[in-house]
Amino acid sequence: MWNAVHDRRPALIARCVNAAEVSSVLRYARSAGLGVTVRAGGHNVAGKAVSDDTVMIDLSLMRGVSVDPSARLATAQGGCLLRDLDAATTPHGLACPAGVVSHTGLGGLALGGGYGWLARRWGLTCDHIVAAEVVLPDGSIVEATDSEHGELLWALRGGGGNFGVVTRFTLRLHPVGPVVHRTGVYALDDAADALAAYREFAENQSADLHAVGAFKIASNQYWIPAKLNGRPVLQLTAAWLGDPDGGDSAIRPLFDRAAPAGRLERVMSYAELQALGDHSEPAGHRYFTKTCYLSELGPAVAERMVANASDIRSPLSCIDFEYLRGAIIDVPEEDSAFPGRAAPYMYTASAHWLDPDQDDEEAAWSRRSIARLSDRHYGGSYVNYVQDQPTLGSIDVYGAGRYRRLAAIKRRYDPDNLLRHNQNIAPAPEARMTTEEDGR
Ligand SMILES: Cc1cc2nc3c(=O)[nH]c(=O)nc-3n(C[C@H](O)[C@H](O)[C@H](O)COP(=O)(O)OP(=O)(O)OC[C@H]3O[C@@H](n4cnc5c(N)ncnc54)[C@H](O)[C@@H]3O)c2cc1C
Repeated sequence: MWNAVHDRRPALIARCVNAAEVSSVLRYARSAGLGVTVRAGGHNVAGKAVSDDTVMIDLSLMRGVSVDPSARLATAQGGCLLRDLDAATTPHGLACPAGVVSHTGLGGLALGGGYGWLARRWGLTCDHIVAAEVVLPDGSIVEATDSEHGELLWALRGGGGNFGVVTRFTLRLHPVGPVVHRTGVYALDDAADALAAYREFAENQSADLHAVGAFKIASNQYWIPAKLNGRPVLQLTAAWLGDPDGGDSAIRPLFDRAAPAGRLERVMSYAELQALGDHSEPAGHRYFTKTCYLSELGPAVAERMVANASDIRSPLSCIDFEYLRGAIIDVPEEDSAFPGRAAPYMYTASAHWLDPDQDDEEAAWSRRSIARLSDRHYGGSYVNYVQDQPTLGSIDVYGAGRYRRLAAIKRRYDPDNLLRHNQNIAPAPEARMTTEEDGR
């Protein structure tokens, strides 16, 4: 697993190569009375892909991708990493919006939502699932589309791995070209001003721009002044996804308003952009990541963000934040199971360390960083970053109405809750389909 904190022992690991094998394993697990976990990229921070004494369906041998450029569609096997998808689509000048670290698995990311550089331009990864081949917990293999198993497809767009094993995604693609990328670094003393500039810029930016921020301990890099080395700093980054000729003028207002102590200016391909963060979160280290949505980024919030940054314990830890909205909020709420589209900001405290003796302290830092902003939490949670079980479990994540619909779909597709070692949606006690019966 990516996160070394989760040291668990499944009863069996089944490395499947196709849907038929997944089907056999599911039938076997049912007959043996064993629970099942599903592993795609193995990046779930809470380690949901692995559990003691269960059957793990490992999809990491199923990483094929094919692209139909004229239809702007990709089909990707359920064990793909984001880099597999990007490597196949970028040569066609196309991309599916996905996360920002290319060794993350497509499966978990897409089924739970999928924020990334293209989300403000085109929406979340789950918004791009147009069809899916799914092996249901009873072993049958179905294709979920808008017309067949439409409720299942709705649930796969944000409801996580609760309903079956997705062995193939069909994903909608969009054109992408070179990306204009600018980063500025600020000493913590200047961070409050820089955050005010970020807020003004980000809340008014065009959908072709995505601006993000990160607090981290500065490392020795040629573009960062030496006096900041080893100290907590703020980095602001803007990526321009429109016509490259317009990039400079689009980004300049951010750094004119708050002049950074050092800056890095690059133009890169989309695949390069996707791989930029790959080195900073390697597999085998220890992680605890908590996240929340924030309603605003005013001076009082900025002050507490800076306090959280000055408390960073491990030189590997990081706090990320980003203004969302754009196309994320343009997708109608009823089109997918994904909750929380209207959230303005996302804020993530990622503790990252090596020494197991530091586990408790590092997790406490992450929890404290999120709790310090609790009066500005927007509400809801992003399912892919749930670390501590919320009070009402997945009901907190989805809200009561959406959860009820998901629970009815769960009852239909996984009535015995075979897939329960996840951010679980328990089957509704009785079948209560909220829309017309479909497909099956
Ligand atoms: C380094 C890093 C960077 C990240 N960056 C982003 C980001 O930019 N944007 C973002 O939105 N999230 C991001 N995340 C969070 C990420 O979305 C989740 O960690 C997600 O669970 C990873 O998916 P995976 O396939 O790698 O996980 P796994 O641990 O393999 O799977 C997680 C769960 O997803 C389900 N699942 C996975 N594949 C399937 C499948 N084919 N069929 C059925 N169920 C399946 C299962 O329930 C499984 O337990 C990041 C995480 C990490 C560790």
